[in-house]
Amino acid sequence: MTAAREARSAEHIALADAHAAHNYSPLPVVVAEAEGAWVTDVEGRRYLDCLAAYSAVNFGHRHPELVAAAKAQLDRVTLVSRAFHSDRLAPFVTELAALAGKDKVLPMNTGAEAVESGIKVARKWAYEVKGVPQDAANVVVAGGNFHGRTISIVSFSDDPAARTGFGPYTPGFRRVPYGDAAALGAAIDADTAAVLLEPVQGEAGVVIPPAGYLQAARALCDRAGALLVADEVQSGLARTGRTFACQHFGVVPDVYLLGKALGGGILPVSAVVADDEVLNVLHPGEHGSTFGGNPLASAVGLAVVRLLATGYYQERAAALGARMRERLDALVGHGVVGVRSLGLWAGVDIDPRLGTGKEVCLRLAERGVLAKDTHGSTIRLAPPLVVEPHELDWAVEQLRVVIDEVGRARAS
Ligand SMILES: *Cc1c(COP(=O)(O)O)cnc(C)c1O
Repeated sequence: MTAAREARSAEHIALADAHAAHNYSPLPVVVAEAEGAWVTDVEGRRYLDCLAAYSAVNFGHRHPELVAAAKAQLDRVTLVSRAFHSDRLAPFVTELAALAGKDKVLPMNTGAEAVESGIKVARKWAYEVKGVPQDAANVVVAGGNFHGRTISIVSFSDDPAARTGFGPYTPGFRRVPYGDAAALGAAIDADTAAVLLEPVQGEAGVVIPPAGYLQAARALCDRAGALLVADEVQSGLARTGRTFACQHFGVVPDVYLLGKALGGGILPVSAVVADDEVLNVLHPGEHGSTFGGNPLASAVGLAVVRLLATGYYQERAAALGARMRERLDALVGHGVVGVRSLGLWAGVDIDPRLGTGKEVCLRLAERGVLAKDTHGSTIRLAPPLVVEPHELDWAVEQLRVVIDEVGRARAS
């Protein structure tokens, strides 16, 4: 690495520090290009991307079919607003609804918007269909949740960093421990509009619920006449080896919230997907988005749905995930104290005595692997599903070497 090239990277970081709000603490890597599972920084160094933009890049950076769909659409029409129809919206929502086995799609942009929209729909459904008294509806959520960053969403977070300083908070939410079906049952009452859950909690560190939990949530919702709303923004769209993580548990939610990979890593595309009984509570003027369902987003989203309809990425995630799991399990007892995974999505708990997740990620970056700590000493591994088996093996080997390094640094 030449001094001039180092300066290029340092300059970018200094400018970002000065003029971009400090709401993130990025690793000191300045990406200039990417293809497939690999990114290249401004100094020409290559890194294997083991975060995949929090699973927004499930199909790899610049997937040729997705880029082709976007380019073709750029030459036709990109935005009309929902004041008019576009010829891309109908195929997108039709094929996405079919993929999810539901009637309808409410297209939005970001994941947080999908969650907000899902909550709005659930509340309106509670008043209009279930008959909950006006303004009395509650939504039951889980501890350790991550559903986004809006005021209402942070209102029911239990992460002090996400929440503190942003009050007053939106009422109408009840939080119970994740994975505790009895607590969930106790929180649900006649005014419960919905239970909102991540089938696997991503930001919490790839936390997989205990056996029977999601099935119990489904049964409790059925008994109480409440909607089961699955936030599959991160877990959905092939990451876990199935189209939806809920499928691993044999559970069909009433509402899917989708985002991240739905935009193919190209632009933000999110959606609320549900049957008519639920989504038909929305009438013109009651909800909307200038950009939601725009032709460019719909063209890319449609191409994503068609990739998923082949089943190829789901199978790949399952096979690669099993391979990664085997290699990660071999590290348990050697600086790793726990591994949780589903498909190609793993939370790796590093022995906290060795160092923080951030320290490990910094060293991984030096060795050409980009990963991100979630909480404390947990690292999430979620490479693009196009990663090659030998690349995956290499990434886990770098993790092993880094853990050895931090262990020796600590001991000396
Ligand atoms: C990322 C994420 C969101 C929020 O998505 P944004 O596009 O960042 O608003 C919501 N839910 C889950 C489970 C997520 O992982």
